[in-house]
Amino acid sequence: MVGAIHSLQQASLPIVGTPDFFPVHRIYCVGRNYAAHAVEMGHNPDREAPFFFQKNPDNLVSDGGEFLYPALSNDVQHEIELVVALQSGGFEIATDAALDHVFGYAVGLDMTRRDLQGEMKRQGRPWEIGKAFEGSAPCSAITPASSIGHPQDGVISLQRNGALCQSGDLAQMIWKVPEIISELSRYFLLVPGDLIFTGTPAGVGPVLSGDTLDGVIDGVGSLSVTVV
Ligand code: MN
Repeated sequence: MVGAIHSLQQASLPIVGTPDFFPVHRIYCVGRNYAAHAVEMGHNPDREAPFFFQKNPDNLVSDGGEFLYPALSNDVQHEIELVVALQSGGFEIATDAALDHVFGYAVGLDMTRRDLQGEMKRQGRPWEIGKAFEGSAPCSAITPASSIGHPQDGVISLQRNGALCQSGDLAQMIWKVPEIISELSRYFLLVPGDLIFTGTPAGVGPVLSGDTLDGVIDGVGSLSVTVV
């Protein structure tokens, strides 16, 4: 589409094994979905209702790309996460029907300006400046569920400069993918193209310019980005 003043580029991700691209609508994220990460952030590891925040589709960075260290932060941190890509949606999706809406899965990084997020938490203000900035959503190509099914366990890990820094297992997710989709759809109309970052295991920490970040989720894929 050509606009009168300018035209917008549709955010998209490659699809593994095809020449096609997956057009991205919204990016939802789940907070505190692994008990060990909740504890390291100073919170209760008990199963509380999941909570959500959003990033912007144009915050995506492709696999192999560069993450530009953002302004106004001295504590930018990595959070490796399983990403769910929806091929359909709706309101009030039942848990037992939720996986029917999943197109596939990817490996994502919920990059966070932790100092700004912490300040917003203290002030009871929204998290946008800590979470939804330029480049804050590196994400791998999407692997279709038609080829890998719906992974419920498997190692999720991140190496920073070749050293293991985050490691967990998808089985440790407090809220499982069908439950996340069902709960999220009570608040938002989910549609094809929505992505959901499903929370990070323990081991979050700061990045510095020059770092390489290499994430892997068994059976799903891998993601590499360089911090510049
Ligand atoms: Mn996160």
